[in-house]
Amino acid sequence: MPARGDLALEGRVLAPEARTAGECRRATIRIAAGAIAEVAPPRGGDLVFGDDCLIAPGFIDLHAHCREDPSGAHNYKEDFQSAGAAALAGGIVALADMPNNPDPPSTPERWAAKRRLADRAPIDIVLFAPAREAPFQEGIPYKLYLSERHAGSETELADLFRAFAGAWLAVHAEDPAVLAERRGAATHEERRPREAEIAATAKLLAALRARPCLHLHFCHVSAAECVPLLRAAKAEGLPVSAETCLHHLLFDVETFPPTLRAYRNVNPPLRTAADREALLEGLRASVIDALATDHAPHTPAEKERGAPGFPGLDAYGAFAAGLIERLTPARFLEATSGFAAGFMRRFTGETFGAVAPGAVGSLTVLALRPGGVRKAPFPTKCGWSPYAGRVFPGEVEAVIVRGVPAFRR
Ligand SMILES: [Zn+2]
Repeated sequence: MPARGDLALEGRVLAPEARTAGECRRATIRIAAGAIAEVAPPRGGDLVFGDDCLIAPGFIDLHAHCREDPSGAHNYKEDFQSAGAAALAGGIVALADMPNNPDPPSTPERWAAKRRLADRAPIDIVLFAPAREAPFQEGIPYKLYLSERHAGSETELADLFRAFAGAWLAVHAEDPAVLAERRGAATHEERRPREAEIAATAKLLAALRARPCLHLHFCHVSAAECVPLLRAAKAEGLPVSAETCLHHLLFDVETFPPTLRAYRNVNPPLRTAADREALLEGLRASVIDALATDHAPHTPAEKERGAPGFPGLDAYGAFAAGLIERLTPARFLEATSGFAAGFMRRFTGETFGAVAPGAVGSLTVLALRPGGVRKAPFPTKCGWSPYAGRVFPGEVEAVIVRGVPAFRR
């Protein structure tokens, strides 16, 4: 659990009512015992940032794989300490960790054992539990991986939803039946076609329509066709939300760094330039709520063998800086912390995602000058990044966690 401190900082505050970043005004933010006590006209502070910087509520990532569990089997590629360091380098003050561990947090005892490990991280962490037959504990979020077992009918999914009534359920939407059909195809992208994601999304939404008794969150939306499906579901008032990821917004099969082509596997796979444009439009229109990393560190040797996923925590802030003007300040804030703040309130009882008295004093300072991902050494244990060497329109200048300076560029 991060410590709590006292700190005053002055700089321009990224405000949701600003039409552009240029309109944001200077203020002094005073943090006492880890919580924001006051936002006042500028009068200096322990840390003073120039006009090329913007202070935002600390970023929150709803989707990361920190790898550590009580078995320690995957600690060679990440643990809560190294994932936390990577998160801070990316401006992330809190994250939600996924449960697909060798020793999964699938009982109250195993979940508690993983919780003790996560409490040693330098940032706030919420732990997902795997969604199996029924919830085993109240007050925690669940992650559903569609398996052959759930691949069948909308009725089967609706029954599962009934078992999880009232839960916050995140889902990886790729239809196992479609994946099974394409098992023999030549490339990773052909083995996991967009049809798998579209079919799973449609089926899950149909089941939710039949039984709208829980909150369903779609992870890593990647196919353009899913955006209108989600838009329609939201227009109907279904309890649904969605995230998209850095890599699906930035890369397609063509634009992935050519020297890393052998490393490009990710689930769902990289798509096309038209998909990337549709995802950005979805984010702009609030059809997609949040920007997530799906940080999934694997070693270079594992990537050579086709392991799916990329590290993303350390690139989050630099990439996100480019979205302030492409979205709006308000949509940027919602995508990087505002939407996730509702999740954090539900599972921690605390107010994240606001620069206002009473909120958690975790803040991210972005510098609006060309920057990128720090390379030597990478904070993540996996030791590589598809974002390294790329110049982004901004970078993370500093991160404050609960009133304590936790990262400085
Ligand atoms: Zn994931």
